[in-house]
Amino acid sequence: MTAGPTALVSLTKLATYEPMAVLQAMRTCLEPFGGMATFVKPGQKVLLKPNLLGPFPADQAVTTHPSIVRAAAILVREAGGRPYIGDSPAVGRLSQVAGVTGMLDVVAETGAPLLELEEPGEFEVPGHGIFPRLVLARTLSQVDVVISLPKLKTHSQMILTGALKNQFGCVPGLLKSEWHFRLQERKWLAALLLDIHRAIRPCLAIMDAVVAMEGPGPSAGHPRPLGVLLAGTDFVAVDAVACHLIGLSPAQVPSCRAAHEQGVGETDLQRLRLVGPDWRTLRVSDFQPPPQPAEVLRLLPLPPALLRGLRRQWTLRPVILPGRCTRCGICEERCPVRPSAIHPRACPSHQLDDRRCIRCYCCHEFCPAHAIVLRSSRTSRWLPLRPVARGVNRLLGWLAALRQDRTH
Ligand code: SF4
Ligand code: SF4
Repeated sequence: MTAGPTALVSLTKLATYEPMAVLQAMRTCLEPFGGMATFVKPGQKVLLKPNLLGPFPADQAVTTHPSIVRAAAILVREAGGRPYIGDSPAVGRLSQVAGVTGMLDVVAETGAPLLELEEPGEFEVPGHGIFPRLVLARTLSQVDVVISLPKLKTHSQMILTGALKNQFGCVPGLLKSEWHFRLQERKWLAALLLDIHRAIRPCLAIMDAVVAMEGPGPSAGHPRPLGVLLAGTDFVAVDAVACHLIGLSPAQVPSCRAAHEQGVGETDLQRLRLVGPDWRTLRVSDFQPPPQPAEVLRLLPLPPALLRGLRRQWTLRPVILPGRCTRCGICEERCPVRPSAIHPRACPSHQLDDRRCIRCYCCHEFCPAHAIVLRSSRTSRWLPLRPVARGVNRLLGWLAALRQDRTH
């Protein structure tokens, strides 16, 4: 992630999704970087990663507008690259979502095929903050370049869905919900977003803020025209500028705050090179933030204590094998929770603080004696949640796509 006083964020006014106007605006927006050819070399396989959260029509401002994806695909082709359009939607499958969001038209027009980001693969996280390895879409290892096409939206837990958060869609299928379930709190999810970003290393973000989403995002908010396209290679900086456009401070957004604390990217406008119209002329003063940002994303309408109880039952629990443990203390040191949630010197029933353990499994990962195993609870063995959740997700996607078909 490029950072420092030279980090550049380019802004271009764009009041319409008319395809030719979008293409021209994207060219203008990328000019300060030297155009798309700076990022894409002839013959390279380029993944365009829009926000395709679920089967929502483009005018609801839930997903990146097809005109933005279309323009990016055309510019990639002009640079000699081979564009693909990929995401792992939170609701439904990509094939269902692509029809409703208008992506199938982009596929037909540009010849950029769809890539389902559903097959899991393990990735190293260079310079990781917390997670040394992550399971992401295997397809990412088969592309040369990743270009992120986020939508500027509010988010009821993470306040903002922007450039950094967009890569969460590279976590395959229901693993996304599993992360929410495991980590639950904002600061851990923000740390995860940074590590996902480190693993994927997308080279460019082109943010669709032509019509943003305000209020109870990321899917139930209201479209809000902002009339701007943003681009940058420092994703933290792009998000920071987006924050200022909608009257938020980057310090209010957990992912920007975590980036600042970890020294990743730049959140200070004074240290950025902003190109294009003065951002103050694009700022809106009455943008509605999410109404009651919640620490825990209410995947289920249950109180946080009960969600934590469910986490205990349906996630793997680290357990120390007494015969193997050498009491070296490395697990305690590597546990990101402070004070540590694992105590190898305690009696077996007190070795794990189950309430505070976020199930990151760093202790398991780093134990040199392989003395920590991950055990499922009896409940989860009797009632495995994953196949049930997968079935429900597919059904929801299918129903939503059907409903949209009927109303259009
Ligand atoms: S890292 Fe492994 S060997 Fe060391 S104290 Fe923890 S469980 Fe025991
Ligand atoms: S005890 Fe292990 S799994 Fe739990 S938070 Fe600490 S390092 Fe992560």
